[in-house]
Amino acid sequence: MTTLLIATRNAHKVGEIQTILGARFHCLTLKEFPDAPAVIEDAETFAGNAMKKAVELARWISENSKFKTQNLKLDLVLADDSGLEVDALNGAPGVHSARFAALDKSENSKDADNNSKLLRLLKDLPLEKRTGRFRCVIALVPVPHGKIESASPVCFADEFEAQTFDGACEGWIQFTASGAGGFGYDPLFVPDGFKQSFAELGEDVKNKLSHRAKALAKLKKFFNER
Ligand code: IMP
Repeated sequence: MTTLLIATRNAHKVGEIQTILGARFHCLTLKEFPDAPAVIEDAETFAGNAMKKAVELARWISENSKFKTQNLKLDLVLADDSGLEVDALNGAPGVHSARFAALDKSENSKDADNNSKLLRLLKDLPLEKRTGRFRCVIALVPVPHGKIESASPVCFADEFEAQTFDGACEGWIQFTASGAGGFGYDPLFVPDGFKQSFAELGEDVKNKLSHRAKALAKLKKFFNER
């Protein structure tokens, strides 16, 4: 079985990823690695951030002799970066989705604060102008078991055939939040073809049509074709 480190501490994301990938993978998460380095997500694209997270963690695992002595063989690191793009805001919050309410600070904001800010910025905007999408990029990086020569993350990733998989889910932003499920902007986002928010639709529906589901479907196809 392939052992995969899912590079997130977000329990919702882990649940979604594990459900979609199925039993073929033994999935570990950053919860099991409390001393893993924090990766600063300062790239300007989702792909850049996802790749940076996956590469830095793969490097950390490969250089950490503790795992060898524990006989823990991690094969792959999977990192996702995702967010909401709103057309009326020229694609914001985009890569800043997690810290939208406090953009000048480096830490994440509370979901409720991010949602309030979004509603405030879109106040009085008519329905037809409230379009947007969730985007997700998943980076998959094999954990190298030899010596790493390259200094830059990009060269390092190239050397080990890193891959990215993307997905988008089109929809619109409601006038008020509704629903208790999901996380982040789910209470505000209604996917195209539906009348309820992601938070109301529940995880079964969300896991079929979400940005993350689409990116993971590409990842699954990649594994199946190998
Ligand atoms: P990340 O952990 O850096 O990828 O942060 C992504 C941020 O985008 C999250 O904190 C949420 O605010 C938002 N986001 C990403 N995916 C979703 C989703 O499926 N539903 C709701 N919000 C999401």
